[in-house]
Amino acid sequence: AKAAGGGVYAGYRPQMRDGLIERLELESDLRGALERGELRLHYQPTVDLATHEVVGFEALVRWPHPTRGMINPLDFIPIAEATGLIVPLGRWVLHEACRQAVEWSRAAGGRPLKMSVNVSVRQFDQPDLAETVAAVLADTGMAADLLCLEMTESVLMTDTEANLEQLVRLKALGLTLAIDDFGTGYSSLAYLRRFPVDTLKIDRSFVERLGVLADDTALTDTIVRLGKSLGMATVAEGIEEFGQLAALREMGCSYAQGYYFSRPVPAAEAGRLFMEGAPV
Ligand code: C2E
Ligand code: CA
Ligand code: CA
Ligand code: CA
Repeated sequence: AKAAGGGVYAGYRPQMRDGLIERLELESDLRGALERGELRLHYQPTVDLATHEVVGFEALVRWPHPTRGMINPLDFIPIAEATGLIVPLGRWVLHEACRQAVEWSRAAGGRPLKMSVNVSVRQFDQPDLAETVAAVLADTGMAADLLCLEMTESVLMTDTEANLEQLVRLKALGLTLAIDDFGTGYSSLAYLRRFPVDTLKIDRSFVERLGVLADDTALTDTIVRLGKSLGMATVAEGIEEFGQLAALREMGCSYAQGYYFSRPVPAAEAGRLFMEGAPV
């Protein structure tokens, strides 16, 4: 409806329209990029805190856009989620990450390589999620026990019963399940006990302030202990400084990722890191 006076729409702001057009453009570009195979994966090492050995990688999607440059996943994953594109995109990420893991592991004489893949809460809406994962494992030859699926606490907190069933079916394939960004959501202890979760990934916001604020140190320590008492492994995200590493090791955290060890790197570089087999 036109507002009175000169064809101006009530509440209209030019940036609103620009925002919408931008989103629509990005959506159609993303669809095209996915179809043309233009998305890439970068890999960030997961390091054993006791030995500094690379035990595996987390796959992180990248979008090299022809005119906008490299687009950050935080800028296109939400669009992919809102449009449903996350389903084919997520399947591609999973397949590519598994294919790559098998290739590197073979090239390293069969040394096992753990691969972690992020799975959006939207992918849990697909009733055939477990079948899709099983098909990818079969197609790539990836050993199920070397695949870890990372999901946020929202998977436990929304559609709880349906998602629990999905997780049980995924677990039955023999893979491991991790809660990503742990500590930032609202999952309760009761949920954690009910769900077949193997690993807690301690959010970077806790690691960041380790040693700075006593409260955060206590919180991180509590998460590590919680993991232990529930029989779960803990992985710390976003380690940038030696002090953070030392504190986490002291707490008994098992694994870590972060710029201190390595940024997420393109496949060729990640492959070299793994092949060298040297502590990072
Ligand atoms: P995330 O799963 O929590 O991944 C960790 C993010 O922290 C990555 O950002 C990584 O580059 C960054 N990071 C790692 N170490 C450090 C550090 O020491 N310091 C700092 N400041 N940052 C660090 P990235 O690659 O931009 O990914 C952002 C988010 O996008 C991911 O957060 C994840 O939620 C999402 N994402 C990425 N790839 C995928 C994917 O294939 N599927 C889905 N569903 N989501 C993805
Ligand atoms: Ca993650
Ligand atoms: Ca995370
Ligand atoms: Ca995080």
